[in-house]
Amino acid sequence: MTTRRQFLGTIPAAGAALTVGSSFLLEGSSARAETTPPLAGHFHPKGKAPSKFTLDVLRNAKATLPFSDTRDLDEQKKGLIAPMKELQIKADGGHVAWDMKRFQFLDEQDHFDSIHPSLLRQSKLNNNYGLYEVIPGIYQVRGFDLSDITFVRGKTGWIVFDPLVTAEPVRAAWKLFQEHVGEGLPVSAVIYSHTHADHWGGVRGLVDEADVRSGKIPVIAPIDFMSFTISENVYAGNAMNRRLFYQYGLLLPASPHGFVGQGLGQGISAGSVGLIAPNRFVSDAIEEIDVDGVKMIFQNTPNTEAPREMNTYIPDMKALWMAENVIASLHNIYTLRGAPVRDPLNWSKYIAESLHLFGKEAEVMFASHHWPRWGNERVQEVLRDQRDLYAHMNNQVLHFANQGVTINQIHNVYQLPKSILQKWHCRGYHGSAENNARGVIQRFLGYWDCNPTTLIPLSPEDSAPLYVEMMGGSTKIIAKGRELHDDGKYLLASEIVNKLVQAEPGNADAKDLLADIFEQLGYQQENPGLRNSFLAAAYELRTGIPQGEIADSSSPDVIRAMSTELFLNFLAIRMDSRKAEDLRFTMNLITPDNGERFIVELENATLTNIQGHQAEKADLTLTINRADLEMTMMGAKTLETQIAEGKATFEGDISILGKLAATMVDFDPRFEIMPGTKARTGKVAHSDAYQALPERIIAE
Ligand SMILES: [Zn+2]
Repeated sequence: MTTRRQFLGTIPAAGAALTVGSSFLLEGSSARAETTPPLAGHFHPKGKAPSKFTLDVLRNAKATLPFSDTRDLDEQKKGLIAPMKELQIKADGGHVAWDMKRFQFLDEQDHFDSIHPSLLRQSKLNNNYGLYEVIPGIYQVRGFDLSDITFVRGKTGWIVFDPLVTAEPVRAAWKLFQEHVGEGLPVSAVIYSHTHADHWGGVRGLVDEADVRSGKIPVIAPIDFMSFTISENVYAGNAMNRRLFYQYGLLLPASPHGFVGQGLGQGISAGSVGLIAPNRFVSDAIEEIDVDGVKMIFQNTPNTEAPREMNTYIPDMKALWMAENVIASLHNIYTLRGAPVRDPLNWSKYIAESLHLFGKEAEVMFASHHWPRWGNERVQEVLRDQRDLYAHMNNQVLHFANQGVTINQIHNVYQLPKSILQKWHCRGYHGSAENNARGVIQRFLGYWDCNPTTLIPLSPEDSAPLYVEMMGGSTKIIAKGRELHDDGKYLLASEIVNKLVQAEPGNADAKDLLADIFEQLGYQQENPGLRNSFLAAAYELRTGIPQGEIADSSSPDVIRAMSTELFLNFLAIRMDSRKAEDLRFTMNLITPDNGERFIVELENATLTNIQGHQAEKADLTLTINRADLEMTMMGAKTLETQIAEGKATFEGDISILGKLAATMVDFDPRFEIMPGTKARTGKVAHSDAYQALPERIIAE
């Protein structure tokens, strides 16, 4: 049986993603016999070459982009101590956790006719893979994961910034580092710059938890780090997971017609995720800490790139760590996988604060993705550009919104200033200007464009049949869609062919045509999230959604990071309220080992909880240590077993638990996005209705 983690984790990292995935991707597929021969070199039998219109788009982009500015190429290479020779890093489970072999094709040609030249440039830069000196005393291992790992020399050992996504690449990075620079000295401190998983998930590859608990190794993080590490992706976690298949192109093999890197880095490692809770929190806005003999000034930057994040300045080295607040890309205000829209003005102001507090004297700036910037002039240039990038987006989008431009138009109206568009480090390799602009409107005005037609619109599948009828039926739509496609008018073509696919999900010709349209749009994108989304939809329209049994397993560390309140809130989301119309109860939940108490109430088909209270007349009082409850949250032990083993005790009507369990629904990450792509048979297998199921931790 494939676990959900394996299902989600191994596919993108598989050296030959299609060969690994295809046995179950194509199982029972209704793919029809193909009449035209497949495009040579394309991974999919229905794949098409870029059209002359697509080639024009890419050619024009190449002519207008600042290719004469080659500073990134120099900065990326600078300080190379040792390249990493092994292109694959094995996971403890035996599979490949990290695979750079699959990206070697990027360096074999200067030009690909199916990759935007700007994205190709970024992906070539992200092919850096090895150990680099930032300045004497600061080193980075880059290209071992989506993020970079950084080592700063302390008095007694190495201070580590941001230990990647999983333990296996962290161990490989540490080994390479020790072979050349580390002098056998131990890790003396760890700093998590922010809450996203690509900045802490590999910590167990470096550090023994006992040394953190005893205080021997400080693990430093911004205040409230733990409550935000997973909270961003629990409530809508299953939906986010599904959307990752689009934004991160999880089913697309690495190839010129498929996945070509993720902009932030080449991809996400598929080893084991762990989390060791920090033992030192930075709570002041600006806080100075002596970390293993190194004076560090921490700048908290809440609600910027992450809910909790901090930059660090090392004055004695004139070195400025910008976490993920300033990288070699425009970042996400709106994230395609889904997340609360970020605050670009707040983000910009924190960059301005960094500039004025530290940037005036810093001689080097480095971050958790990409490569460093050397020299104060360059540091200031990048900081100023990034400050303006986010502020401009906020200000000019709202400028247009105040003149009536809506969320459905802004991406076609809003443009970044020409001076910013000429800066490579401001281009959209993670966030896209189009979707960030829509995100700003979403943040301030929400999704409604204020036209009552869109106030309570019909669902797409309900309005589409009338469009199809009025347009004269499927034959006419396919003919016109084909004509628009052949004229390179892909967005118009997608409008009408999508209506047909919505109305007739079983229409294979319509789905194939829509896939062809999406594919050209995908090739034309500079932004990897947009490219992957178009190509992922094309893939699913052609092949269907992968099948196979899925069972869930969650990292114990991630479960431990989930508060009981968050767990109870999530149970209320998993409950199908339609099954709870006739249920009513009041329950007290007590977890003595951490002193927490809750009232959990089901009334009006709604499950609520309130911490710190107890009901006088509860129908059921359940007492269980939080440490034991975690076994149930992990799906390792049912509540019934806990009671049988004496780990949980109760007073009152225990049948309530069974009734509540019967209302719980298992979320399946394979739900249909494009109509007519679902052909699955496998079920999600959960061992217990009360399993917590925080979905895959999300790197960003
Ligand atoms: Zn990151």
